Amino acid sequence: MNETPTPASGADILIVGESPALLEPLLSILENQGYNPHSVSTGSQALQVAQAKPPDMILLDPKVSDMDGYELCRQLKEIPALAEAPVIFLSGINDPVDKVIAFSSGAVGYITQPFDLLEVLANVETHLRLRSLKAALEVKHCQLQESHNQLRKLEEIRDNLVHLIVHDMRSPLTAIQGFLNLLEKHAASLKPQCADYIRLSQAGAVKLIDMVNSLLDVSKMESGQMQLHPVPCDLGKIITDVFANLASLRDKRTLASRVEIGTITVTADEGLLTRIIQNIVSNGLKYTSPDRGVIEVIAESADGLTTVRIHDNGVGIPPQFHKVIFEKFGRVEAEANKQRHSTGLGLALCRLAVEAHGGRIGVESQPGSGSTFWFTLPCGALPKKQKAPRKPRE
Ligand code: ADP
Repeated sequence: MNETPTPASGADILIVGESPALLEPLLSILENQGYNPHSVSTGSQALQVAQAKPPDMILLDPKVSDMDGYELCRQLKEIPALAEAPVIFLSGINDPVDKVIAFSSGAVGYITQPFDLLEVLANVETHLRLRSLKAALEVKHCQLQESHNQLRKLEEIRDNLVHLIVHDMRSPLTAIQGFLNLLEKHAASLKPQCADYIRLSQAGAVKLIDMVNSLLDVSKMESGQMQLHPVPCDLGKIITDVFANLASLRDKRTLASRVEIGTITVTADEGLLTRIIQNIVSNGLKYTSPDRGVIEVIAESADGLTTVRIHDNGVGIPPQFHKVIFEKFGRVEAEANKQRHSTGLGLALCRLAVEAHGGRIGVESQPGSGSTFWFTLPCGALPKKQKAPRKPRE
């Protein structure tokens, strides 16, 4: 922070005390320093003056004639406008018990007789400076909060806009895909080059439709609108189906499962559970060598929790990206990954889907040593309607 508040010159200082030996030199030194001191001799006067024109600071002799000085301090601090005004006791009693009572009644300082005026002055300056700093910090905090709220609003507008555009892209894209499929049927009558163009366009359309669907699902889950349909799911069967779905991307990689069909049942939305496992296994295929890649799925159920672990022997992920990759559009920024197509939506979708089931997801990985993605699913009943998940970037 560059604007450090100066000691509050011109600050209003109320002195409560009767002794001329205390008041006269104090008033004079404070005035000389540019403060605006004024004094009263009784507790009731102090309360009256403080209510009418709240001072910036109060110097208080606990021996006021009409009431207990500590009780006076308590009553002064109860005046809302004085909540932040520092109160310092100037006392003839040098007793630790009195000091404790003074601080517990709301004072910030306790100076004992014989008074050293320079010490009093240093205390006044320090506490006024602290008060200004605190006020400046509060202003900054409010400004930050305001900026944060504005950012959140802008983010919401952006997300709604993206959702709208993406949603409207789905129908024309599906139509393009449909016509490309029809064209492919006539590929035999076209030049071989044209058949290639059709296949490439089809692949592009599939990728785009995939991206559109992922974006819509992520935003649906973020807003808590995704409807869950929990049913008993055979984990072994789901893994077998996922491997079959991804067979065309496998090359010479090994896909292994240590989960036999019929051994582990979890209550989950079957479509979502399949997508979670499929996303992680297909990432495994993407980031392992086509010849030596091994992706293995294991699972165990214990203490009311099923844990699924998907291990690969691929490129690995640096620790600083272990959290980022589960956020929307989060990707590892590495040269090696630039050649691979990635939107950074798959794992965000996995995280939201796992959290919607009341589970957790994470990764253990080091560059060059492969990755183990894991997620947990609690056993037992699930809410039909997904709870609103925690908002990202809080
Ligand atoms: P996408 O849906 O585009 O594939 P993901 O959200 O699934 O993106 O993955 C986010 C990023 O996490 C990827 O871009 C990649 O950098 C990293 N990643 C995910 N899985 C693996 C893995 N098995 N090995 C190495 N990096 C991975």
